[in-house]
Amino acid sequence: PRRRQLTTEDYFVGVRDCDITVLPRALTLIESNNPEHQRQAETLLTRLLPYTGNAIRVGISGAPGAGKSTFIEALGLQLTAQGRRVAVLAVDPSSGISGGSILGDKTRMSRLAAEPNAYIRPSPSAGTLGGVASKTRESLLVCEAAGYEIVLVETVGVGQSETMVAEMTDCFLALMLPGAGDDLQGIKRGLLELVDVIAVNKADSATLKAAELAAHQYEMAIHSILGKQDHPPQVLTCSALHDQRVDAVWQAVQQRYTAMKSGGDLAAKRSRQQVRWLWAIIEDRMKQALRKHPGVRRIREGLESEVLAGSLPPEAAASKILQTFGMQEPCGI
Ligand code: GDP
Repeated sequence: PRRRQLTTEDYFVGVRDCDITVLPRALTLIESNNPEHQRQAETLLTRLLPYTGNAIRVGISGAPGAGKSTFIEALGLQLTAQGRRVAVLAVDPSSGISGGSILGDKTRMSRLAAEPNAYIRPSPSAGTLGGVASKTRESLLVCEAAGYEIVLVETVGVGQSETMVAEMTDCFLALMLPGAGDDLQGIKRGLLELVDVIAVNKADSATLKAAELAAHQYEMAIHSILGKQDHPPQVLTCSALHDQRVDAVWQAVQQRYTAMKSGGDLAAKRSRQQVRWLWAIIEDRMKQALRKHPGVRRIREGLESEVLAGSLPPEAAASKILQTFGMQEPCGI
């Protein structure tokens, strides 16, 4: 049977009641690229906005295989056992490009998914990374309005998607593989500036020593790269598989959050994030508009081949494309 269409009021009431039949549909509405759905989603979000902002928002990144799902499941089960409500969202940087997925199927966290106090949502799949991230950010707000107290946003450890997740969260946790510390190239200044807590996972059995060594090396790298700082990232080891020190990692995250909140830094951080999102959304929509523009689509391949052949400088091709798009003046540099 076809499901009844929901009104904005239905969505609003359903989300506020955390009606588990309505919440996923509200998130589907948010993720939709249909212009009419987008308008309804904007109205819904505006209505929900006064009820948002009450969760701890935590970004979690790690290379494929670092143990993100295992860690999130262990942490989520601990938190739900304490009666806390946890939502897990994901930003998959591969989803927009290939239609494939690095983060994979969230049925991996099947035990957590079965908890009534947990909600797991896979990454939105269509669009640019910016679009995927911006929809995830809106989903985060919806989950807050539904009363989730902890929102975990998972992503893969590659530059741009980590930055976008850091832009929507209060604290950032990087899960590392033991052994990765051998290669200090692996720890970039950029990542160090994003993270609050580094947890070297798989600190058990055969990889225990390697994990401890890696943790030590990260400590040294932090010291030498960042120097003296008020809040240097904290480094811990854990074993998500055996649920060892997952609680300690969470405590470190929470400590960071509490310190930010009581110092007034949290409110300031969230306000700055809002303004950066404004511009990120504008840039993303402009890129999409450029890509979809019929005139641009007509001329782009021809101009690309001319640039490829070396018969037209990229600057001239760019001016032609932008003029076609409607930008009158060539950009002065
Ligand atoms: P993800 O790709 O980052 O989500 O990683 P997964 O959570 O799927 O874990 C990848 C593999 O590492 C799986 O086979 C896990 O069982 C294993 N794994 C995860 N955490 C640990 C751990 O703490 N210790 C050990 N020994 N293996 C782990």
